Amino acid sequence: MQMKRKTIIIICLMGLLIPATIAQQKPLVYILATGGTIAGVGASETSSGYNAGVVSVDKIITSVPEMLKLAEIKGEQVVNVPSQDITVNDWLIIAGRVNELLARQDVTAVVITHGTDTMEETAYFLNLVIKSDKPVILVGSMRPSTALSADGPMNVYDAVAVAVDSSSVGKGVMIVMDDKICSADDALKMMTTSLETFHCPNYGYLGYVYDSKPIYTRNPVKKHTIHSEFSIEDMVALPRVDIVYGYAGVDSLFVTTAVDNGVKGIVYAGVGNGNPNTQNLNALARAVKKGIPVVRAARTPIGPITQYDELNDDKYGFSASWFKSPEKARILLMFALTKTKDYKEMQRMFLEY
Ligand code: ASP
Repeated sequence: MQMKRKTIIIICLMGLLIPATIAQQKPLVYILATGGTIAGVGASETSSGYNAGVVSVDKIITSVPEMLKLAEIKGEQVVNVPSQDITVNDWLIIAGRVNELLARQDVTAVVITHGTDTMEETAYFLNLVIKSDKPVILVGSMRPSTALSADGPMNVYDAVAVAVDSSSVGKGVMIVMDDKICSADDALKMMTTSLETFHCPNYGYLGYVYDSKPIYTRNPVKKHTIHSEFSIEDMVALPRVDIVYGYAGVDSLFVTTAVDNGVKGIVYAGVGNGNPNTQNLNALARAVKKGIPVVRAARTPIGPITQYDELNDDKYGFSASWFKSPEKARILLMFALTKTKDYKEMQRMFLEY
């Protein structure tokens, strides 16, 4: 009888303690560091010169202790470069690791620290191949960690705050910088030095960060992550796609050189509504006849690249990138080439992603 009572007391105590422990458990967020200005060190607090990718991921985490109130944080250095040096191979490494981590039940979200120069490209790449609806947030800074009023710590804190919020689930890969949330499909670095550098020029911000909480004002409009037909499983490389830039008087040297050197697809960043001049139109038409798909994008940063305006894409077998910048059109074309060479099927992809 004595024994029984003891057992009952122990069970009751455990019943009280276990829920308390569960309630205290914080979400687990992995910070994957890739370099960039956010890990940069300058000569002084006021100098604008600095070396990117110097500060380790552990240092980034310990310099923002406030975020440990929001989540349990684990850090990993995946690559360590200024983002102008990021390669397709780096994207495959980052995407592979994100997929591995998010497949684990104990991981709530992944935050990736990254240089801002190519952040929108990495974000869009991930948006096409991450097989999870858990939040994936890219974050960086415009000022190095040593700067007076460095923007990195607040940006990382906000990124973690967005990552752990349940309203961020299913929104695809996002960029959090300067209190704003951009979807990967629309984010564009628009200013070379200003803190407010990322804009979503076609669809607008997904939302804002206010008082450590994301306030969403819309959902992403394009297919992403678990709804994407693309995958990096068993992939070691992607077909080479180059971008050729249009300007007044440009000749067809770059298109011809790309074709002669075995390029698998071409994105032409045309003027205005993605227009190539006559020389390049002819060179691109020849590329299509040789089996090299061509996508028309534009150097004009805002607005759709529409089919059938000044140029009938069907006549030449081109696809139009619609709202994709030349850089993102290149990524989508690389993935499209893993599935098809049919321009109409590619056009479907450019309308959907
Ligand atoms: N060049 C740097 C980078 O992209 C700039 C930055 O991080 O803001 O790595």
